[in-house]
Amino acid sequence: MGPTGAVLSALLAQMGLKVLVCDASTDIYDKPRAIALDHEIMRVFQEIGITKAVEPFVEPFTDSKFFGVKGQLIKCMSTLPPPYPLGYVPSLVFSQPPLERVLREKVGTLENVQVKLGLRLMALDHAADHVALTFESLAGQKEHVQAKYVVGCDGASSFVRQAVGIELEDLGFDQPWLVVDVLLNEKGMSKLPKVSMQICEPKRPCTYVIGPKNHRRFEVAINEGEDPKALQSPEQVWPLLARWMTPDDGVLWRQASYRFHALLAKEWRRGRVMIAGDAAHQQPPFLGQGMCQGIRDAHNLAWKLAQLIKGQATQALLDTYAQERSMHVRELTTRIKAIGLLVAERDENKALARDEALLKEAAGEIKPTPRQNVQPPLNVGCLSHTEHPAVGTVFPQASIMHQGQETLMDDVLAKGWRLFVQSTHASDFKFQSPGSLPSIEVIEWAAEPSSQGLRECTGVVAEWFTRMKVHAALIRPDHCVFGVFNSGLELTRALDQLHTYYP
Ligand SMILES: Cc1cc2nc3c(=O)[nH]c(=O)nc-3n(C[C@H](O)[C@H](O)[C@H](O)COP(=O)(O)OP(=O)(O)OC[C@H]3O[C@@H](n4cnc5c(N)ncnc54)[C@H](O)[C@@H]3O)c2cc1C
Repeated sequence: MGPTGAVLSALLAQMGLKVLVCDASTDIYDKPRAIALDHEIMRVFQEIGITKAVEPFVEPFTDSKFFGVKGQLIKCMSTLPPPYPLGYVPSLVFSQPPLERVLREKVGTLENVQVKLGLRLMALDHAADHVALTFESLAGQKEHVQAKYVVGCDGASSFVRQAVGIELEDLGFDQPWLVVDVLLNEKGMSKLPKVSMQICEPKRPCTYVIGPKNHRRFEVAINEGEDPKALQSPEQVWPLLARWMTPDDGVLWRQASYRFHALLAKEWRRGRVMIAGDAAHQQPPFLGQGMCQGIRDAHNLAWKLAQLIKGQATQALLDTYAQERSMHVRELTTRIKAIGLLVAERDENKALARDEALLKEAAGEIKPTPRQNVQPPLNVGCLSHTEHPAVGTVFPQASIMHQGQETLMDDVLAKGWRLFVQSTHASDFKFQSPGSLPSIEVIEWAAEPSSQGLRECTGVVAEWFTRMKVHAALIRPDHCVFGVFNSGLELTRALDQLHTYYP
C-alpha cells in the first residue's frame, strides 16, 4: 500500500471491483522519498477525489538552473506557462508522508476495499482460474486468500516479482548519492537560493530542490573511496552543506545514502499476476519521476483490468499494459539517465566540453525548457496508429462553465471512452457504436457555448485541435489519445481496430 498500490486500489474500487490491499507495515513511511510530481498525477488524484485534501502539501516546482564547471548557467528546466494543459500547474513539489496519508485515508473510505495492514505476503501459487496467496500477520498468524488477479505494488525488492520469476534488466546507471532533507528556519529561508539547482561540478555534482514550505533537499554525489554509510552521519553531512547552510539555518530531517539505479522488469505480467511501481522499475531521481511512473502504471492498468474482469474486454487489452508501460518507462528512463549523466560528468575536460556545447546551442540566451517536454508519448499498445504526434499523448483537460461555475471537465464529462469532436465538424462524425464495443460518449467541443451547453474557459482543448490539425479525437478511459481524425472514414477504421480489445 505504497503510493502505487493505494492509487490502484482506489481506482479499481471506484470501477466496481472488490479489492484486498495489504501492506507489511502498519503505517506509512514517515520520511520523504519522492519530492516532485506532475499534472498527470494531479489529474489521477482528481479522479480519486483527493485534490482538495492534497493541496496543502503541494506547491509549484521552481525552475531548476544547471551550473557548469566555472559556475556559469548552462541550462534551465522550467514548467509550462498557463493556461495549463491538464488543469494543474505542470510541475509540482510535495511532501510524501502527508500525501500518502491522504491516499490511505481515501482508500479506507471506499466500500469495495478491504485494507489489511501489518500483513506480509509470504507465498503465491498460480492456478488456472485464481491465485492463492498466503499472508503472515505481525503476530505470526497465517491467512489464506484467493484472488482472480494479483498486482504486486510491493516496491523495489518486490516479493511478487521474485515469486513469479520476473527478472530486471539493467539500463546502465549505477551511482552512489547521499540524499539530505532539511527543514529551514526563518534565517535559512531568507538565506538559501530561491531556485532549484543542478550543480554540475565534476568534483562533487549535487542537486538542490526547493520543496514545499521550509523543506529543502540536497542530493550529493558520493566520491570514490567515501563510505556511503559513514557519510550519513550529521558530523559528515554538515560540512557537505557548508556552502549553503549551517546548523544555524535549520535542522536535518533525514539523511540516507542510495545507489541511483535504472532497472526495468523484463516482463510485467505472468498470467494472473502483474507488477507495478518500483516493483517493475527504478530510475534515478533527476527528474522526480519514480513515484509518478508507479501512479502512471496504476492508471494505465486499472481500467483494463476492470473491463477484463467484468467480461467487457479481451486479454489483448490487458496485454497492452505491459507493452505500453514498459516502452514508456524505458524511454523516459533513458532521457532521465541522459540528464543524470550531464549533471554527474566527473571528467573535468568532458565537463568543460559539455558546458561549451550547451552554451553554443543556447546561442547567448539560456531558454528554459519545460520539464514536460521530456515525457515521451506512448508509441505501442492500444492505439489506432502512431503516425500522428497527438496519438499516445495525454488529452488536455479544460475548465468549462458548468451550472454557472468554472469546473474541470473530468468532473463533469462522462468517464470511459469519449469522442471529442469540434462542433463545427460534428456532422462528419456521426456514428453508431457497434453493440460489442464499449459505449463511446460523443462530446461536441466549441470555444463558444455548444449545443451541450459546454463553454470552455481556458481554451486548451480548442487550441489543441488547432495545433494538432484534426477535427476529432478518440480518447481512452485513461485520457490517452487513441486516434485522431479528419474524416468519418478515418474514425470508422479506428473503431474497427477496437475489436481486437473488445469481444
Ligand atoms: C532519494 C529518492 C528520491 C526520489 N525522488 C522522487 C521524486 O522526486 N518523484 C518521484 O515521483 N519519485 C521519487 N522517488 C521514487 C519514489 O519514492 C518511489 O518510486 C515510490 O515511493 C514507489 O512507490 P511504490 O508504491 O511503487 O513502492 P513503495 O513506496 O516502496 O511501497 C511498497 C510497499 O509494499 C510493502 N511491501 C513490500 N513487500 C511486501 C510484502 N511481501 N507483503 C506486504 N507488503 C509488502 C512495503 O511495506 C511498502 O509499503 C525517489 C526515490 C528516492 C529513493
